[in-house]
This record gives sequence, C-alpha cells and structure tokens, in this order.
Amino acid sequence: MPIITPTPTLLSELEETNERFERATPLEILQWTFDRFDDDVAMACSFEDVALLHMVHELRPATEIIFLDTGGHFSETLDFADQLEAKWSLNMTRTTPGPDADAWPCGTAQCCALRKVEPLGRALKGRAAWITSVKRVDAPTRATMKTLMWDEKFELVKANPLATWSDDDVAYYLTSHDLPEHPLWAQGYASIGCAAMTLKPQVPGDRRSGRWVGLDKDECGLHEA
Ligand code: SF4
Repeated sequence: MPIITPTPTLLSELEETNERFERATPLEILQWTFDRFDDDVAMACSFEDVALLHMVHELRPATEIIFLDTGGHFSETLDFADQLEAKWSLNMTRTTPGPDADAWPCGTAQCCALRKVEPLGRALKGRAAWITSVKRVDAPTRATMKTLMWDEKFELVKANPLATWSDDDVAYYLTSHDLPEHPLWAQGYASIGCAAMTLKPQVPGDRRSGRWVGLDKDECGLHEA
C-alpha cells in the first residue's frame, strides 16, 4: 500500500510548485522535497550523477541512496560506487535483479524490467518521494520532463532537481566543488548503463546515442516525462 496517494490537492500542489521550480536551483528543489516529505525520500543514483549526489549528501546525509545493481555494470562503475560510498559514508542500498532476469537478453524490455524497474519499485516501497538526476538535455525522450511530478509507475512523487540544467551546469558544479566524475567520462563515454549495451556516443552532441545501439530502444523504463 503506497504511503501517499495522488489526491487532487496533492496534484495541484505539485503542478503549482513545478511551475515555480522552472526558475529554482537544484538545491532549492531538493530542500523543498526534504521539507515536504522529510525522511520518506530516497535518491536513485547511477554514479554518473555525482553533482546531485553531492547536493543530497550536503543537505541530508542520511538519505537512502538506491543503486540499481543490474549485474551488468562496468567494473569502473562498481568501483566508483564503492569509493563514493566509503568517502561520504552513504546510506546505500544495492538492488539485485529479479529471479528470472537471466532468461532475457540485454536489449529486451523484460531484461530492463527485471534488472531495473522491478527492483527499483521494491526499493521505493514505503517512500513518499524519489529523487532522480534526469535532465531535459539528456535526450529527446526527456525534453519535457518536469522538475516535480506524480510518478504513476512507482506511485510516489518524483523530483528531478536537475531537469533544467545543461551539461555545462553539471561540469561547472563538479569543478567548482572539486568533485570526481565517473571514470569512463574521461574515455569519451557520455551516458553509462550496462556494459553490454553502452558505447561511446555514436552521434555528436547526443549523449545517449551510445546506448542500445542498433536496437529500437531509448530508455530503460524508469523515466517517463
Ligand atoms: S541495459 Fe541491457 S543488460 Fe542492462 S538491464 Fe537494460 S536490457 Fe538488461
């Protein structure tokens, strides 16, 4: 049973706040989310989103950080997650794939469903809100992403504090706070998922064009605008 329901009052609050958030900073959006939902907030983290992870860590260090361990990550991603978990003493939860995941090859909807969507749904149970690092500039599929919304799939509020940020905004934040970046960025990767289906960008300027190359697939099913 979800601990929060999309009543007309809540939906109208989200809509009004979302409009205001078009001009807010990520820190202001995060602060509102923690003030509104207190400890019932978790962040899903891929460890490409160190800027947002750092903000969450600064504002509310005990926040649960959910890392979707699909069983197919690059070793660099796993090592980097371990390093930041130790460095910041993160309250980290690693999900595991559903029992039938091995029956489905990478690229199928069922594979992402069993390794990402279903485990995240389990991890978010009992939460009122989750935080993601999606940005509108990530991909055309994310171009209309709101900063704040009701998430029908997982039945809770979804906060996207970086929705209006550019890649330059993220780069500036990392540099100005002397933060590390995912080690594969230095090798030219720009969007990093499971190793089997992640290449460097195939289209200049389209950071997700190295994901699921040759397949009719753009998203893993976690994010819908
Ligand atoms: S990216 Fe590929 S291996 Fe990873 S969960 Fe999705 S379909 Fe499966």
